[in-house]
Amino acid sequence: MATMTHEVLAQADPEAAAAIGRERRRQVDGIELIASENYVSEAVLEAVGTVLTNKYAEGLPGKRYYGGCEFVDEVEVLAIGRVKELFGAGHANVQPHSGASANLAAYFSLLNYGDKILGLNLAEGGHLTHGKDVNFSGRFFEAHFYGVDHETGLIDYDKVLEKAKEVRPRAIIAGASAYSRIIDFRRFREIADEVGAYLFADIAHIAGLIAGGMHPTSIGHAHITMSTAHKTLRGPRSGFILTDEELGPGVDKTVFPGMQGGPLMHVIAGKAVAFREALQPSFRDYARRVVENAQAMAAAFVERGIPVISGGTDNHLLLVDVGSIGISGRKAERLLDTVGISTNRNTIPGETRSALQASGIRVGSAAVTTRGFGTQESTRVADLITQVLQAPEDEAVLRRVSNDVLELTSGFPVPGIERAGL
Ligand SMILES: *Cc1c(COP(=O)(O)O)cnc(C)c1O
Repeated sequence: MATMTHEVLAQADPEAAAAIGRERRRQVDGIELIASENYVSEAVLEAVGTVLTNKYAEGLPGKRYYGGCEFVDEVEVLAIGRVKELFGAGHANVQPHSGASANLAAYFSLLNYGDKILGLNLAEGGHLTHGKDVNFSGRFFEAHFYGVDHETGLIDYDKVLEKAKEVRPRAIIAGASAYSRIIDFRRFREIADEVGAYLFADIAHIAGLIAGGMHPTSIGHAHITMSTAHKTLRGPRSGFILTDEELGPGVDKTVFPGMQGGPLMHVIAGKAVAFREALQPSFRDYARRVVENAQAMAAAFVERGIPVISGGTDNHLLLVDVGSIGISGRKAERLLDTVGISTNRNTIPGETRSALQASGIRVGSAAVTTRGFGTQESTRVADLITQVLQAPEDEAVLRRVSNDVLELTSGFPVPGIERAGL
């Protein structure tokens, strides 16, 4: 395979190849802490770069609207079977192009235009697709929100119930992009049942932790579970939907012909490979290390005097309250970028700055764990971040940390990227 050095691409299109090469180097040299990112395996990279990208396959395996689908059918059957086994689900659709498309399809399989939905506030850890006004979810549905307790940083389930009784939503959405504690899907279902609502679980971030046994599952509680494949689950950039045999056909119809045309068969191949990887015992070990590393980072920040929302984490991410030491999230994000550490600014519960500035940074452990960081390296990362944030104007500190970042990452290869091939 030419995936390492891209020799053909470099010949055919030097400009695109050069930009890709620079990105490859960034991924190897830097410390990747964006909580929604990960490094896929070399096998997944290869699968996504195959001739399956040439194939149209509208429909489902065995029921396509195009000829010549016998081999891509095999691939999709593998992906469906594996993801059902991985999560213990009765039905799976692996065609959504992304997490957002998975959510759109899931909603429209059970809801109508204008129905009321109740989701977690974006500013307190939710996602755009959970009802934000600028998103389809806020434009097509009447969106209402629950939040987290500003003191503890935790979802207050009694308050969710109160809000649900007041709003009487057609659906409740449980799931988050920036929430570091266990989500109680069982409790969410009780609340949904009490007000006669459907429960949608969006496990985009924590899918890998659920698969790896580090977070309670939504299966059996939510009517429909939506996810991405590319966050903690470590698959290619894309989505999927899990439900039971009763609701399955409706979901399938909403994905296609409801809102998508031909599925991305090369990406579905990547999903099949990633799901197989997640079924191996080693993936449980990976999920455990992801949580241990996030907890090590959280403890290190707290020890060094930078508070973490809710005091720690149960999963792969933490929200660091950089505002409390006088730096905006935006400034922290920029400073850290200059030393090769990727994070993203994030609002925190009870935010006092604008969303653009924010008071927090979101830090995730999934990607660094994939490249082999343990708790020792994770503590070191928190230490480097603290050094930068405590001396933002000190050029000497920034230079030294840049070098430390390079030294640290040089010992930990990224899957699918050989240093020699950079
Ligand atoms: C990332 C994410 C999504 C959207 O996934 P995309 O692939 O970026 O469209 C949806 N819901 C949650 C909770 C997410 O974190």
